[in-house]
Amino acid sequence: MILVWLETEGGEVAETTLETLTFAREQLGNGEPVEVVLVGGDPAPHLSVLGEQGVTTLVHVADERLDRYGGAAWAAALTSVARSRDARAVLAAGTPRGSELMAHVACRLDVGMAANVVAVDEREPLRVSRQVMGGSVLEEMALADRMAVLTVAGHACEPSGATQPTEPEVVPVDVELTDPDLIGQVARIEETESEDTSALTRAKVVVGAGRGVGRADGFEDLLELTNLLGGALGVSRVVTNLGWRPHHEQVGQTGSRISPDLYLACGISGAIQHWAGCQSAKTIIAINTDPDAPMVTRADYAVIGDLHEVVPALNDELRRRRR
Ligand code: FAD
Repeated sequence: MILVWLETEGGEVAETTLETLTFAREQLGNGEPVEVVLVGGDPAPHLSVLGEQGVTTLVHVADERLDRYGGAAWAAALTSVARSRDARAVLAAGTPRGSELMAHVACRLDVGMAANVVAVDEREPLRVSRQVMGGSVLEEMALADRMAVLTVAGHACEPSGATQPTEPEVVPVDVELTDPDLIGQVARIEETESEDTSALTRAKVVVGAGRGVGRADGFEDLLELTNLLGGALGVSRVVTNLGWRPHHEQVGQTGSRISPDLYLACGISGAIQHWAGCQSAKTIIAINTDPDAPMVTRADYAVIGDLHEVVPALNDELRRRRR
């Protein structure tokens, strides 16, 4: 049995969990049942979407001490479920919480963990390919432990429904928690307007802007393009360091990690630290004057030219098509 941690976003099954369920079914399942574990919350609203994913069982850990997220406590719950249901593998999406939880779970099970997995080869021992160094390198790793613990990289696969939809059975379980499990829990969540990166991290289209923009007041066309595409603006660290745009728009190792359907990188060289934040984008288009810039050589498509000519032309065309 393959066990997947169900992460929710805005009260719904997170898109990244749908990717992970598809990954579990297609890469690990081999017809084996895929079960999910929900810590806290209400399972009822998720059953139909989980049924479309072919999930056989939703294990529900309801305990008021778990109402607030805590890495150790939630991992204690997941570990207990993984053991009691004899999971062969435990998976979560490679989100900040998924990564934190799987690291805790692997420690508690005393097994290895592979982060940011993109493919699995069901040999003995299990072999996985995973992204390392910000996704610039793929590493093959053997997981010799009976219970494989891993996180699935963003966009490792496209979420798709199972050929045989199911009606998941809800199995409520109690877990034992110790005082140390409960030491660290979220006390308060405060959303601040200015530092809110959720628009960027959730956007399906991100228009990226780098030093190539040239000046603080050179973003107008890029902002219009962002608007026309219904996306969000993401920038390089140079741009935030120069004070041209606020830090919460920064993409990269020290900014946000994004995984949009489309990343349109304009005037960005594609340094490894920037690539670390954008390499999960499904399609990358670079607009750059330098045909040898790393962003251009790694992109799916590239336009070699001055962004101050290319972007207004794109905007004109998009506006024309909307008329
Ligand atoms: P540049 O490297 O200067 O590239 C500008 C690009 O614009 C060039 O490719 C050029 O050909 C092109 N260009 C110029 N004019 C035009 C034009 N008119 N039209 C089209 N193209 C044009 N960087 C990040 O982005 N995010 C991070 O999180 C991050 N974290 C870091 C952490 C550490 C510890 C360190 C050391 C660095 C970090 N950096 C990060 C910085 C990173 O190394 C690069 O310096 C930075 O990404 C470069 O930004 P850039 O591509 O905008 O600028």
